[in-house]
Amino acid sequence: MIFENSFKKILKIKNLFKNLVKEDKKVDYFFEILKKPQREIKVYLPVKRENGEIEIFEGYRIQHNNFLGPYKGGIRYFSEVNEDEINTLAFLMTIKCALVGLPLGGAKGGIKVDPKSLSEKELENLSREYVRKIYDFIGPDKDVPAPDVNTNAKIMDWMVDEYLKILNSNDKKLKATFTGKSIENDGSEGREEATGKGGEIILEKFVEKLKLQKTLRVAIQGFGNVGYNLAKFLYQKGYKLVALSDSKGGIYSEEGFNPELVMECKKEKGMISGCYCVGSVCDSKLGKDITNEELLELDVDVLALAALENVVHKDNADKIKAKTILEIANNPLTEEADEILNKRGLIIIPDILANSGGVIVSYFEMLQNLNNEKWSKEKVFEELEKYLSKAFDEVWKIKEELNIDLRKASFVLALNRIYEKYKTLYQ
Ligand code: NAD
Repeated sequence: MIFENSFKKILKIKNLFKNLVKEDKKVDYFFEILKKPQREIKVYLPVKRENGEIEIFEGYRIQHNNFLGPYKGGIRYFSEVNEDEINTLAFLMTIKCALVGLPLGGAKGGIKVDPKSLSEKELENLSREYVRKIYDFIGPDKDVPAPDVNTNAKIMDWMVDEYLKILNSNDKKLKATFTGKSIENDGSEGREEATGKGGEIILEKFVEKLKLQKTLRVAIQGFGNVGYNLAKFLYQKGYKLVALSDSKGGIYSEEGFNPELVMECKKEKGMISGCYCVGSVCDSKLGKDITNEELLELDVDVLALAALENVVHKDNADKIKAKTILEIANNPLTEEADEILNKRGLIIIPDILANSGGVIVSYFEMLQNLNNEKWSKEKVFEELEKYLSKAFDEVWKIKEELNIDLRKASFVLALNRIYEKYKTLYQ
């Protein structure tokens, strides 16, 4: 059902795309091909628990499309992981990589597990077992996994270590099989911050195009890796962060928050609620706790969605008062919400553009491993800006020329790149 919903967003431009490429049947076949992943791998992972019992976990690697290059996409650990969700995310990766001009396809992986219920040793065994089950299907020229929700550099380090052990190799280039590794283990500088940094670069481009002022008021839902880093970079650029939240609730202050201080407070308390009274903000007594629903409904210039999918849906879309939505999480709007908000004239900066910083820097990590290089964070961010700036300008041009929204324009650009390759493969 999730995939169907996500695919509906792209189906909306099918007729437009037919007109643009002046083909009919070929485009029908092309969409049929994109509707299905190329390969779905389902694995069962026995892990010995600390109490001596064996528990079997379910995992997936779904390789959606590799017309433009090796499959690329994260691995998530989550108790609700299912095939439909992984498939949807794999499809989004295909589109995202094409959109930003990477020579990569799309994939996603996942294990149905609550990682907090495992000890560190059990988590390591589970991660290594996953690699033992999928190693034949991955590699720098086949499929390159990365971290996603609840996975991190430590897990990637275990995985790449297991992979090299299985292949009985210490060829450094093979480290490019996984990205998001720790810096000491040939990971890339700036990878942790890349998605948030990318969101900031895209928002800056948008602000520049519309000639908006810099003191825009921003609310961010989700204060994890992506939300926090986005907040940090926007704050540095002079945006006013009037509301922030995590899964337990949010905070609001018209004066704006310093995200570093809020993070310190969140680390201490274990949640963001109550963290409105930090630093100078406290002196004004203007801060207060708010619910996540209230945050979504704030009258702000930019609402950045950095938590989960489907948080804005047909039942709350009418209550959104923000002028612009920055989709930094994957799929935060349902298809119905997207329709409602577009009709109301809100500008939506789509996920495939706004959160592509992570995969771009993952690609840089592959390049560094394959060429035995080590880039500084400055170089990583400079290169990231080049990719994102180019993608944004291309999308904007299509949006203006065809008078369509940014999501549709992004789809046109990405599909066009995949379609060119498809034509050579299926004459
Ligand atoms: P994370 O787990 O580090 O952070 C998620 C944050 O959302 C946490 O602060 C959590 O408390 C909060 N949250 C959870 N449920 C919530 C709710 N109902 N309301 C408000 N907040 C809630 O994850 P992340 O890596 O920051 O990823 C966030 C989103 O961005 C996901 O959709 C992910 O797929 C997407 N994304 C991440 C990356 C990346 O590089 N990490 C790249 C592209 C897209």
